[in-house]
Amino acid sequence: MTRYVYDFSEGNKDLKDLLGGKGANLAEMTRMGLPVPPGFTVSTEACREYLRTGKLPPGLPAEVENHLRLVQERTGKVFGDAHDPLLLSVRSGAKFSMPGMMETILDIGLNDSTVAGLARRSSDGRFAWDSYRRLIQMFGRTVMDVPAQAFDDELAALGGLEAQLSIEQLQDLVTSYQKVFHAHTGRDFPQAPHEQLFLAISAVFRSWNAERARIYRRQERIPEDLGTAVNVMAMVFGNRGADSGTGVAFTRDPATGRRGSYGDYLQNAQGEDVVAGIRNTVGLTELATIDPASHVQLLSIMERLEQRYRDLCDIEFTIENGKLWMLQTRVGKRTPAAAFVIAAQLVDEGTITLDEALQRVSGEQLAQLMFPSFDTTAAPPPLTTGVPASPGAAVGAIVFDSAAAAASAEPVILVRRETNPDDLPGMIAAQGILTSRGGKTSHAAVVARGMGKTCVCGADELTIDGGTLSVGGRTLHAGDVISIDGTTGKVYPGSVPVHPSAVVRLFEGELTAHGDPLLSAVHRLMVHAGYTARLGVHANADTAADAARARRFGATGVGLCRTEHMFLGARRQLVERLILAGDDAEREAALAALLPLQRTDFEELFAAMDGLPVTVRLIDPPLHEFLPPLEDLTARVARAEALGEDPGRDGLLLTAVRRMHEQNPMLGLRGVRLGLVIPGLFAMQVRAIAQAAAARVAAGGDPRPEIMVPLVGAVQELETVRSEAETVLAGVPGTPPIRIGTMIEVPRAALTAGEIAGAAEFFSFGTNDLTQMTWGFSRDDVEGAFFGRYLQLGVFAASPFETIDTAGVGELVRIAVERGRATRPDLTVGVCGEHGGDPASVRFFAGAGLDYVSCSPFRVPIARLEAGRAAVQASGSDSR
Ligand code: ADP
Ligand code: MG
Ligand code: MG
Repeated sequence: MTRYVYDFSEGNKDLKDLLGGKGANLAEMTRMGLPVPPGFTVSTEACREYLRTGKLPPGLPAEVENHLRLVQERTGKVFGDAHDPLLLSVRSGAKFSMPGMMETILDIGLNDSTVAGLARRSSDGRFAWDSYRRLIQMFGRTVMDVPAQAFDDELAALGGLEAQLSIEQLQDLVTSYQKVFHAHTGRDFPQAPHEQLFLAISAVFRSWNAERARIYRRQERIPEDLGTAVNVMAMVFGNRGADSGTGVAFTRDPATGRRGSYGDYLQNAQGEDVVAGIRNTVGLTELATIDPASHVQLLSIMERLEQRYRDLCDIEFTIENGKLWMLQTRVGKRTPAAAFVIAAQLVDEGTITLDEALQRVSGEQLAQLMFPSFDTTAAPPPLTTGVPASPGAAVGAIVFDSAAAAASAEPVILVRRETNPDDLPGMIAAQGILTSRGGKTSHAAVVARGMGKTCVCGADELTIDGGTLSVGGRTLHAGDVISIDGTTGKVYPGSVPVHPSAVVRLFEGELTAHGDPLLSAVHRLMVHAGYTARLGVHANADTAADAARARRFGATGVGLCRTEHMFLGARRQLVERLILAGDDAEREAALAALLPLQRTDFEELFAAMDGLPVTVRLIDPPLHEFLPPLEDLTARVARAEALGEDPGRDGLLLTAVRRMHEQNPMLGLRGVRLGLVIPGLFAMQVRAIAQAAAARVAAGGDPRPEIMVPLVGAVQELETVRSEAETVLAGVPGTPPIRIGTMIEVPRAALTAGEIAGAAEFFSFGTNDLTQMTWGFSRDDVEGAFFGRYLQLGVFAASPFETIDTAGVGELVRIAVERGRATRPDLTVGVCGEHGGDPASVRFFAGAGLDYVSCSPFRVPIARLEAGRAAVQASGSDSR
């Protein structure tokens, strides 16, 4: 028969699946001989069984009773005893800590008769009756769903301050709480201690499926089927006078990582009072004066815990009449900065290896450290705090509509109740976005994250109405400057000074790491990541300036140079000439004019990346993207005609735009298709690359260009482009060897990768297009339209444009790598597109055997760190 209950002395910290995090750690502390009140854990298995059948598993009650007997023996008290009752706490605890589930119920076992026993034994009637009324309140709220307000109203009727109530008033409160309980549940508060206990255990199990808990799991990608454990333990009391109290502590500073213990202590109080903030806590150091013996004992326990967990721990403790009790510990949460600092410290202290240190930090944390931040010492009190939806620090004048944002020459913050797809131009133009409604999956949040734009959403204290924004009695108007912090959710009035990230300045070479704990830690771990990584990191860069920055950030090549970006600005005219060309001669003249411009661009780029590969993608977007919009042209032509003038060039452009109009440009005449349809276009680009490379060689440089053909779906397309390119290359004297390869971004290309590899020396996955075409939706159309809904429904846990969809798109990647390498074992395989800078995606690409990822210059360090982490993980060398 399955066993469901484990005494604390039986478990250990590695049994989180079975005992939950809290239970496993209570067991570990018990094994270490630390002073933990006796107790036991009902396993997650029992929870899963309960959720499946709706009943406690058959053997469970007897097992609980047996373990309860052990607790009684150890405490010398009896559960339900009228003279000296044992009281219990019932605490939920899943594998991952999970707000939204049922909280703790304290003082289980009190009833109309044991309360009198407790009062006599403790010689403290106030304490006993206060505990009893708290039990009815907590039990009513969490087990029976009585609204909290109902109890609060009764307390308010007595003046609201429980600390000042007499015994008689507390007794009256118990009576009125019992009435409230009856009124809302239709039954009396259960007097039988065992009934209280089993109702509480069942309620913890049920709370696994509470709405808030489900939403939290979906957001955090915690599996639905884990279930929670329940911890039942003897109560100890911090509210027994001046020699009692309760506190929380960290073994290092969780904000900065600095060594030394940190914490808060509250004399004569139960744990819940600390949270409620009823009285002010004092710093942990004051415990040295209040209770020196407990303080010394606590410090030595904290040291032992750090050694055992080999990491920063946080703890909850209670002191009852001068005796210290440990109530909880776990590896503590910390800020990104502290994560780096602590990882490096633990290496210095000889506790962990550098490989392990890499596992203690993440690309997400590094990304946080690379955003600019507000100088909060110079900030006024915030107006309000919303949901931190997309990190960064943005300052600008308030605008209330998208058109105003797009029209403004000044930096602006777009302030909306909520955004919709019509707000897109304004969102693009704004420094940041602030909404009063919606959470992390709202339109504003999803789109802002996709654009990498600062966003605070769901700031529901804001009233946005009729061109004003009011909060807490203040009213702001369009044009007033505000500052929003997408990392904390804080909204400040006025312009708060922005600090550039010190970590970015380190990467830029503007700061040295010397003497700065954070920068030294980052530097050290980045060096180690570079040493362990097997996946290279290239950058997407179209200009020499971008390439140079990427190189400073550690990129070892350009994985994607988008040549169409060289056709913007004044050069657009030349593309127009190409499109409007009436015959071969006109077209050749237009191409000839473009050639030297491209050549110069390439020369600069190759110089910036001298000695490293530069993958140049031939022109990809539909050519009509270079022409003015249809509406503009139509209006211009109409105006000219109304004035009886010749619309001239506008007329020609209008005809061309109409001719080239596509229903689905994303699926139209673009990529390799352009090269096959427009004679000379690709040849001109190839010639420019070859001439630029030859010039660099002549100047003593070491250019390493590669030519990449976009949007190939069939090997014949690539073969055609390839043979034309080879002819061009052969005709340019002094050209170094130039490899020719293709993007894999059409599902057909992934499936026929075996054939395509016959004509390609390298592959680069264009995961943006590959994601669009695999799912059959276009990013621009869907992200704002329904992604929020899809995220809520759990169709995907993160936007597939942010994090690679491993099951679908990822499967195509795996197939293409396998088939491509079967044809050509030395095929180089990389990925370009923003997935290359997304930590979770980088881990996937490393596992899929890619040679490199390519991402925006800013994200290069993030990818490098993740590449190093992935290699350590794969080699399993993080074992003790
Ligand atoms: P959470 O997961 O929300 O921190 P806990 O289960 O840790 O909930 O309980 C919250 C607080 O209740 C603890 O910090 C502690 O102060 C108090 N508590 C829980 N169990 C006991 C107990 N057996 N004796 C005294 N206090 C307890
Ligand atoms: Mg706790
Ligand atoms: Mg593409």
